[in-house]
Amino acid sequence: MPRPRFNRILLKLSGEALMGEGQFGIEPETVGRLAEEIKQAKEAGHELCLVIGGGNIFRGLAGAAKGFDRATGDYMGMLATVMNALAMQNALEKIGVDTRVQSAIPMATVSEPYIRRRAVRHMEKGRVVIFAAGTGNPYFTTDTAAALRAAEMNCDALFKGTSVDGIYSADPKKVASAQRYDSVTYNKVLSEDLKVMDASAVALCRDNNIPIVVFNIREQGNLASVLDGAGVATIVQSDKNEGGQDAGL
Ligand code: UDP
Repeated sequence: MPRPRFNRILLKLSGEALMGEGQFGIEPETVGRLAEEIKQAKEAGHELCLVIGGGNIFRGLAGAAKGFDRATGDYMGMLATVMNALAMQNALEKIGVDTRVQSAIPMATVSEPYIRRRAVRHMEKGRVVIFAAGTGNPYFTTDTAAALRAAEMNCDALFKGTSVDGIYSADPKKVASAQRYDSVTYNKVLSEDLKVMDASAVALCRDNNIPIVVFNIREQGNLASVLDGAGVATIVQSDKNEGGQDAGL
């Protein structure tokens, strides 16, 4: 079997991906379905780690708008990501996938603390590592945490699961003429403010040459097929790689 181009990946899911059709919180069926996607990718031989957001429960900025101190709101948001991480861990273990949760805010009774070398070892042993509590710092997002952990774990790519099949020039749900890209540079994403991840996360990926693969996680089996080079996705990469082929998509 040819060695997959992206052997080790970090998968970033927003908290909203766990809500299913709901407006808030965690829908167990949806989390179960996402866990199946991850299992399939693992069984295809990839090493995976995960960063899950917390927007389905609490966002620091929304809290600040309602009068919370921003840093306090951000800590609450980070705690929300721990709940999501535990929900995902539960769903994965239920279907026989070995996992470890590592939290950037130490929480000894529910998870391991974040220790980079230990996380690498877990992945080498075939465990899915779920990074919780973002970067551990307020004023950041879980997108930035995903880029940071992807760099620290030497991931071959950061996979961003969304509800659309890639990056468009405008929101395809609002603008019918929006153009879809197969491949786009980090600098175009930043200069045109294309909605992928926040700018600091994109810049961190650019500086460390980590491709960002944007794909639809709602479509069943899509993570594995994009990893296999068959699915539909947009890849964000530097100029010299542009064209898509080089990156194996
Ligand atoms: N957060 C933070 N530092 C981090 C990561 C997250 O303060 O390193 C807080 C921030 O308040 C954010 C919330 O956690 O709004 C939830 O994360 P995010 O909004 O990134 O979740 P997503 O939109 O991916 O669901």
